Amino acid sequence: MHSFHYAHGLLHCEEVSLADLAAEFGTPLYVYSARTIRDHYTRLDEALAGLDHHIAYAVKANSNLSILRILRELGSGFDIVSGGELFRVLEAGGDPATCTFAGVGKTREEIRYALEEGIYCFNVESEAELEFVNEVAGEMQVTAPVAIRVNPNVDAQTHKYISTGKSENKFGIDYEFVAGLYQRAGNCPHLAVRGIQMHIGSQLRSVEPFVEAIERVAPLAAELKADHGIEFFSIGGGIGIIYDAALESGDVAWWSRQDDAPLTIDRYAAEVVPRLKDLGLKILLEPGRYIAGNAGVLLTSCLYEKAGSAKTFKVVDAGMNDLIRPALYEGHHEIVPVREDLNARRKTADVVGPICETGDFFCQDRDLADFQAGDVVALMSAGAYGFTMASNYNTRPMPAEVLVDGSEARLIRRRQTWHELVAPEL
Ligand SMILES: *Cc1c(COP(=O)(O)O)cnc(C)c1O
Repeated sequence: MHSFHYAHGLLHCEEVSLADLAAEFGTPLYVYSARTIRDHYTRLDEALAGLDHHIAYAVKANSNLSILRILRELGSGFDIVSGGELFRVLEAGGDPATCTFAGVGKTREEIRYALEEGIYCFNVESEAELEFVNEVAGEMQVTAPVAIRVNPNVDAQTHKYISTGKSENKFGIDYEFVAGLYQRAGNCPHLAVRGIQMHIGSQLRSVEPFVEAIERVAPLAAELKADHGIEFFSIGGGIGIIYDAALESGDVAWWSRQDDAPLTIDRYAAEVVPRLKDLGLKILLEPGRYIAGNAGVLLTSCLYEKAGSAKTFKVVDAGMNDLIRPALYEGHHEIVPVREDLNARRKTADVVGPICETGDFFCQDRDLADFQAGDVVALMSAGAYGFTMASNYNTRPMPAEVLVDGSEARLIRRRQTWHELVAPEL
């Protein structure tokens, strides 16, 4: 996939110049490629053609209504982690019957709302939660569809803050207790056991942890099918993407080199499909980052170059409040200038934001294009866990978002104003 590339000396998203978008809508600005989102969804869907499968896009990766609409049109379901995300899916015209509800801390209000709307399944993460869902469903005189999230105790080999499948993580129920809990669930009058779920972590860069987890859990899933008549096995999300590449100067064509990555979709499918296809269960997947990550960039303008005694800082107008991945879990984003000719001159520098935190940087001591005040640069691969993690820290408005589709660009969220920022305060 090759949706961000230089043409006529300027970085483009599909057929639209990012310089034009920065001039029209200002910076910081998120820009997404509809084509990339469709391409990634379709690739995954086709690679799994040998399985009875259903994709439930993880809404928390990028939850803009326009993005959700694209996925709905492709036939995607949605994996949600809050009542607010369910509200978003419904606003985008999504069908609640395609929604799975994950997360360790669902509230009474959220459970009620999801039951009223008729979601497909609650993915339950503790015994206490199982009993609580039963109680709330009982009050409403309905039956709640549930699956139990199993923690297979597999090392996902990813950053410790995004690893979820080890027994020391807060997620899921230890493998050895799962069968007993299904017994409990079967005896709860207001629960209907519908499936089993796992999600071992995010940004996995090799297929082995997926294989290990599936090999552990598949026999249990088969047993639960026989004993409890479950209909699905969700293998979660977590497929990693390329963030860093040994870039030739100015070469952003590495999207198209996904095929050289250690974890490609074909590799994933080749290992996963044969291990699941004879289970006789519907296989659910919950990809977030894979769908949206490389489909977006954050455009930011350089404000100043500051020559410190120890290093050079390029101060830009985006901060950790707009894109927190580097500060939160050492996330890497390539930084490329919108003007291609700037790639010819290099400098080693830190790129930092305006926020009053030492952790507010996008890179340190990196060999970069020597861009200067007024130049626009793109923080690549910012389509997932970018805007959705943004905050108003330092009383900075939420950035605007633009969706590109072919030669069309559409503002899908306008920049927040200072008035909107303080409006809810009493
Ligand atoms: C966050 C999350 C996902 C999506 O993870 P990605 O790494 O973005 O694919 C899937 N399932 C659950 C339960 C999650 O919490």
